[in-house]
Amino acid sequence: MGKRRPGNTSAGPCPCGGGLPYGRCCGRLHAGATEAATAEALMRSRFAAFAVGDIAYLLRSWHSTTRPARLRLDPGQRWTGLEVVDTAGGGLFDTTGVVEFHAHYRAGGRPGTLTERSRFVREDGRWFYLDAEES
Ligand SMILES: [Zn+2]
Repeated sequence: MGKRRPGNTSAGPCPCGGGLPYGRCCGRLHAGATEAATAEALMRSRFAAFAVGDIAYLLRSWHSTTRPARLRLDPGQRWTGLEVVDTAGGGLFDTTGVVEFHAHYRAGGRPGTLTERSRFVREDGRWFYLDAEES
């Protein structure tokens, strides 16, 4: 769990694209040093967890009602960049939020993009990923 961290040191740029080194950005969330304050921050940290292969973080940031029993990441797929294009709710005083994003990847040498409107809920002060909104 989470032992595959290809090419990612805490001093390198965070995969979420926030502009900070990984160790001062999503790495702090992955390490459990702090919690995501907003739905967007949780979304970014989950993208970064996909990028660094932190399955344990993906599972614990997934809501208990929708969390898969286990998760396997495709080793041939590399997550290369994230664009958040819209948010609704998900702020410091909200209990639900939606974040729409484009997640860019390469698989088998070809680029691709996943677009999703993710729904988030906050329980006991912690944000969780719920599911993808139906389009
Ligand atoms: Zn980050």
